[in-house]
Amino acid sequence: MNIQKLPHVVIIGAGFGGLEAARKLRKASVQITIIDRHNYHLFQPLLYQVAIAGLVPSQIAYPLRTIFRRQKNVNFQMGEVSSIDFGSRYVKADGSVIAYDYLILAVGGQTNFYGLHAVEQNGFQLKSVESAVNTRNHLLGILEEASREVDVERRRALLTFVVVGGGPTGVETAGALAELIIHVMAKDYPYMDLGDVRVILLEAGHDVMPTYPDELRKATYDLLRKKNVNIMLDTKLVDYNGMQITLENGTHINTHTLIWTAGVRSAEITDRLGVQQAAAGRVRVEPTLQLPQHPQVFIIGDAAYLENGNGQPLPMLATVAQQEAKAAARNIQKILKGENPEPFHYKDPGLLATIGRNAAVARIWGLSFSGFIAWVIWVALHIFRLIGFRNRLLVLINWAWDYFFYENQVRLITRE
Ligand SMILES: Cc1cc2nc3c(=O)[nH]c(=O)nc-3n(C[C@H](O)[C@H](O)[C@H](O)COP(=O)(O)OP(=O)(O)OC[C@H]3O[C@@H](n4cnc5c(N)ncnc54)[C@H](O)[C@@H]3O)c2cc1C
Repeated sequence: MNIQKLPHVVIIGAGFGGLEAARKLRKASVQITIIDRHNYHLFQPLLYQVAIAGLVPSQIAYPLRTIFRRQKNVNFQMGEVSSIDFGSRYVKADGSVIAYDYLILAVGGQTNFYGLHAVEQNGFQLKSVESAVNTRNHLLGILEEASREVDVERRRALLTFVVVGGGPTGVETAGALAELIIHVMAKDYPYMDLGDVRVILLEAGHDVMPTYPDELRKATYDLLRKKNVNIMLDTKLVDYNGMQITLENGTHINTHTLIWTAGVRSAEITDRLGVQQAAAGRVRVEPTLQLPQHPQVFIIGDAAYLENGNGQPLPMLATVAQQEAKAAARNIQKILKGENPEPFHYKDPGLLATIGRNAAVARIWGLSFSGFIAWVIWVALHIFRLIGFRNRLLVLINWAWDYFFYENQVRLITRE
């Protein structure tokens, strides 16, 4: 078979959506080029584990060339896509021009600082391997600094850790950070008074986990409190200079650590496409996931804006990206057969978030769980969803070790 003659599907982004789309087109009579600025697929839900010194990046990232080694109709190209010409149907990536018959745009999102430039500059975020490793180095470095600080006020500021955003990522990060300090660092710094440590979760709204049902919101709140996380609701941050947070009510929190998990928006390239954007910069798509006026272009995942039956935008979740990827791949195959593409309907698989050891909240098949059972479900599901048997085994061993011996393995400060 001469694959040069097959329709060319270009997929931009090898995250949850792009990867799934390429896999679903495995048996289709198409030639696929998948482009990503990184040469690996990143399992973002466990980035916070890298930040709290629980896992190394290679355990949550997997090389794309290895993933596609056996899929003969895929060609991977590492590169930054800078522009797309929808009229002439080509994309430009690092100097090369790649023509397409069908395009799947799966470029994901980036942290949304809502114009708070000072926070972007002075705070930390969890969106990439680099940002998670930076956060880890900073956290471990701060503890070293605090251990030799004689000034009480400054030590207290060094030992104040603020996570902004009460969604699942903020809750997971705050819970894990509290445990890192209470269980692990207490052993490494036996002479440091950990009574000075404060882990604060700041949330501008009335509640943590606003999209979760009442009982799970309450369970999350209680589990965080048990781990000594100080939850500040209805509290809006307006500024951060690297040493002091200013709140809307005019009060201040002295801290050298602010981890921002309060927002995501679509990837930067979506702002340059000249297409209609909705909330958080996401590109409005037809129910079939096609770009209006350009039926050969599909947009999926965090970059796409589509509403569910209740008029709410589909959430920026891996499960949404993966289901949309399957639908886009199916629709391309339908079009190739001369059939009409079908609208996408999201099937909500449930909710799941961990708050640390033995503590998680879950809603599955209409039932709510919290505590140990939810935590076991969380551990099993995350290990199952990781790519590569070696990664699954290493993460399982790592977590089991941490669980029984209260030791986070990756406590190296590696910055230059
Ligand atoms: C810390 C964190 C925790 C999360 N936890 C969960 C969770 O528990 N459960 C859940 O369902 N979801 C979770 N999410 C959300 C989930 O990761 C996203 O919804 C999902 O990754 C979206 O998939 P995607 O394919 O749209 O984009 P992504 O997976 O982000 O992939 C986008 C890809 O596009 C590439 N790219 C972007 N721009 C360009 C360009 N110009 N050129 C080349 N390549 C480009 C990127 O490198 C990336 O590989 C979490 C996200 C974060 C950040």
